[in-house]
Amino acid sequence: MSDLVKKNPIIIDGKQTSANIRNWIYIEIEKLKKNYNFIPGLAVVLIGEDHASTIYVRNKGKQSKEAGMNSWKYNLPSDIPEKDIIAQINKLNNDDRVDGILVQLPLPNSNSSSERSIIEAIDPEKDVDGLHIINSGKLVTGEEGLFPATPSGCMHLIKDNFPNISGKKALVIGRSNLVGKPISSMLLKENCTVTVAHSKTKNLIDECKQADILIAAIGIPNFIKGDWVKKGSIIIDVGINRIEDKKNNKNIIVGDVDYNNAINYCSAITPVPGGVGPMTIACLLMNTLRASCLRRNLSPPIYNT
Ligand code: NAD
Repeated sequence: MSDLVKKNPIIIDGKQTSANIRNWIYIEIEKLKKNYNFIPGLAVVLIGEDHASTIYVRNKGKQSKEAGMNSWKYNLPSDIPEKDIIAQINKLNNDDRVDGILVQLPLPNSNSSSERSIIEAIDPEKDVDGLHIINSGKLVTGEEGLFPATPSGCMHLIKDNFPNISGKKALVIGRSNLVGKPISSMLLKENCTVTVAHSKTKNLIDECKQADILIAAIGIPNFIKGDWVKKGSIIIDVGINRIEDKKNNKNIIVGDVDYNNAINYCSAITPVPGGVGPMTIACLLMNTLRASCLRRNLSPPIYNT
């Protein structure tokens, strides 16, 4: 039996962990204000009026302020030319009060090359979304940098409960630049043996059955069935899928894993909602705090659980 097995499965509480991180950030910012007389600042650029993006941006602003940070929002029209978005980013790159710049994705009416040009326009030292090619390269080569918030949040949730995952078999399902690829590098850094599965993978069920750690970042509701899951495994469900709950006649959010069945097999699992979701903004703020220190040649504070 795997040494990861726990008697009762741990329901990994992302809400509580993210609140702990945000409280820690508040305390660290108070110290920076007192000792170095500056306040870290996050600028978020929202293009268009997509409903979900507007809510995400609002929450980022609210939580930055609650953590004691400066926060700025730039709402640009959906038909704005790429060059004008880049001009706005350059202004923020040159604004010394701004430590972190985030362009809310996906962009409206955008193709992937335009999205890439916009991300590459951000100063890598202020790239708190960790999507600039310099930061992606640093992650892959194992150097220090700014890394994407959602995968960082997943790693916190794993390591809070299982500090030593060296040698474990990890399966990442999904290969996006935002989640799948960066978390694969993070697990490799922790000495896991990592497999990345995707829409063209054959025998996915067999891959799942061998995984000590299963990360689902697919975007298909309840896709991973309970009996695919290895006994005693750790399951991190990144998926956020809105579905209709016909019985109660309302919309609900579910993950990529069939939680109610998987819970009978695993030793730990993140619920949806309340698992990975709340960690993203907390890790974004942690990146902003980190960027604010690195830009001033200060050692960034390290969060210990
Ligand atoms: P994406 O659409 O960019 O990538 C999905 C991946 O799933 C692809 O790599 C694809 O190959 C893989 N896939 C699709 N069908 C598959 C199949 N049948 N078998 C195996 N693999 C398959 O999505 P993403 O941006 O990586 O997001 C994934 C999920 O995570 C979504 O539900 C998204 O909403 C959620 N998400 C949550 C957070 C958060 O919690 N804050 C952040 C980002 C994404």
